[in-house]
Amino acid sequence: MVMAMPAARRAPPHPERWIRVTPQGLHVVPGDFHVDPVRPVERAVITHGHADHARPGHDKVLATPETLAIMAARYGDNAGAGRQALAYGERVTIGEVTVWLAPAGHVLGSAQAVLEWRGSRVVVSGDYKRRRDPTCPPFEPVPCDVFVTEATFGLPVFRHPDDAGEVAKLLHSLEVFPERSHVVGVYALGKAQRLIRLLREAGWERPIYVHGALQALCDLYEDLGVALGPLEPATAKAKAEMAGALVLAPPSAIADRWARRLSDPVTAMASGWMRVRQRAKQRGVELPLIISDHADWDELNRTLDEVGAPEVWVTHGNEEALVHHATERGFRARALSVVGLGEEDEQESWPPGEGSGERSEEGAGEEDGS
Ligand SMILES: [Zn+2]
Ligand SMILES: [Zn+2]
Repeated sequence: MVMAMPAARRAPPHPERWIRVTPQGLHVVPGDFHVDPVRPVERAVITHGHADHARPGHDKVLATPETLAIMAARYGDNAGAGRQALAYGERVTIGEVTVWLAPAGHVLGSAQAVLEWRGSRVVVSGDYKRRRDPTCPPFEPVPCDVFVTEATFGLPVFRHPDDAGEVAKLLHSLEVFPERSHVVGVYALGKAQRLIRLLREAGWERPIYVHGALQALCDLYEDLGVALGPLEPATAKAKAEMAGALVLAPPSAIADRWARRLSDPVTAMASGWMRVRQRAKQRGVELPLIISDHADWDELNRTLDEVGAPEVWVTHGNEEALVHHATERGFRARALSVVGLGEEDEQESWPPGEGSGERSEEGAGEEDGS
């Protein structure tokens, strides 16, 4: 406000001038709101329902209708005092900032937050992936000045194979071991429902048995229009009747006393981390399935190219490697190291103890299940 200059000739402000990392998370100063705050704040824009991004106790929450429904299912009255639903592409003004949401392709309702102020545009991806997911609309690249990205699988070793091939492995094992049940560790929000849909697409029409911790979100997906086919509670039947059954359970349950009630189960796990054989072995996973809801190394880098932002900020995950590689490729890149993101992300942080000292087995496995 120092000197009056014609608006048209004023250069857009650099995003560092109007978006800051605070202990609460990403603070958008001219709108006075936070994106995916890790502590309760007055006004929050939430990208998606996973527990490290959507926390309880905010005053006002803006998110897609699906994300609001997921938060309400998990947090009840604590999901946010004032809740405003914003459909993809719909615009709203908060303070001086225009906000709209674009699909992120991560889980149902997941969105990138597009933030515009004085001709400058920043896109906060939240978590995302680029491959097809039959439970949510695909990621849409939005051109911007700064792209704020996750980097959960930001290492060249992480290249996720085709989902259909992983699902075929599971179905093949069911064929080869018809007397054994198969229990697959999945996270309750997103992975469970996506795997169910992929199994249906691959021709599995029989009931799929689900652990009680998955039921509420499966019901919610159904309510929101994602048909999952016949599901049954995993504990309703006698052990003998579970021969050849396909069972989905939270990761923490698959190697637990809970799984012993199943008929000689083959233990499987659907996660991007299954790329690392050692991790599968550590937890007694016999059948690792590399199915991830996060972008792999190639998807991350391809996304930077498609979004075309000259500058990239990396919020969480394997930040260093992606920052280094992006810099080599000519982007201005930096790690934001937002504390609290990824730490409790039940989505992919299993198994615990790697990357973040904060993770506990219970936190990673049960967070989403309750
Ligand atoms: Zn997530
Ligand atoms: Zn996350």
